[in-house]
Amino acid sequence: MSGTLYIVATPLGNLEDMTFRAVRLLKEADLIAAEDTRHSKKLLGHYGITTPTIACHEYNETAKAHDLIHRLENGTTIALISDAGTPLISDPGFRLVSQAHKKGIPIVPVPGCNAAVTGLSAAGLPTDTFLFLGFPPKKQGRLDSFLNDAARHKATLIFYESPRRVIRLISSAITAFGDRQACLARELTKQYEEFIRGPLSLILSTLEERETIKGECVLFIHGEDEQPAGLSLDQIEAMIRDGLNQDTRTGELAKKIAGLANIPKSKIYDMILSLKNRS
Ligand code: SAM
Repeated sequence: MSGTLYIVATPLGNLEDMTFRAVRLLKEADLIAAEDTRHSKKLLGHYGITTPTIACHEYNETAKAHDLIHRLENGTTIALISDAGTPLISDPGFRLVSQAHKKGIPIVPVPGCNAAVTGLSAAGLPTDTFLFLGFPPKKQGRLDSFLNDAARHKATLIFYESPRRVIRLISSAITAFGDRQACLARELTKQYEEFIRGPLSLILSTLEERETIKGECVLFIHGEDEQPAGLSLDQIEAMIRDGLNQDTRTGELAKKIAGLANIPKSKIYDMILSLKNRS
């Protein structure tokens, strides 16, 4: 009888985001196929999991899948894990799972974390339909046509991106979509977890003010149509200037604009102070 292939989700950062079932199955498996065995050592050590590990990553998956399928056919139970979140979601494992299906090997998913859905649950954008677009192309020309294709979708758009390229993604998105409502989720479940919500232009200017952008990022962008009215960054700044010219109190002004712009009052408050300092 063949063994079972378990696809086990692991935490995005916070080690407590592990299910009891995932821990038990990793302990009971004969072998853990890990994207990076050194990286997973910390998680496995934390839960006292002593199951042997073997590397199965992007670069060796084709060759490794053959070996793992052979072991599964001979009755070995294997748990596949990636560095973070759900294997196969912008992570290795597709070749292994498709070959296992072809061979009739039982495949059991063990659910848990995923950055796209975790971030979406707190992004403040529609969740009834969403489109996961994974990592966008790195080359500018391909990125532009990828975004132009995405522009017609009504679903909330979800992108994974490295902190080094996130500014470029947001400015290219403004060109392709206009200044839509969006949310950048950074370092989900970790110590410095952050959500920056508002029009794309506001997220862009917030990031541009920083010396460096660190950590892992997911970008959520409102689908086409039916966006809450919102305001662009230029419109917000113009309203602040008008309010200051009319000597409106800072708190009152922040409250009024925050309501119209659909972004937190504290953010507008900071913008008012920074405009006051500049003038
Ligand atoms: N398998 C993972 C999942 O289920 O979400 C995704 C792996 S993919 C190689 C890594 C990307 O996922 C990162 O570049 C980032 O876009 C996103 N990501 C992973 N962990 C994250 C976190 N803690 N906060 C924000 N984004 C995260």
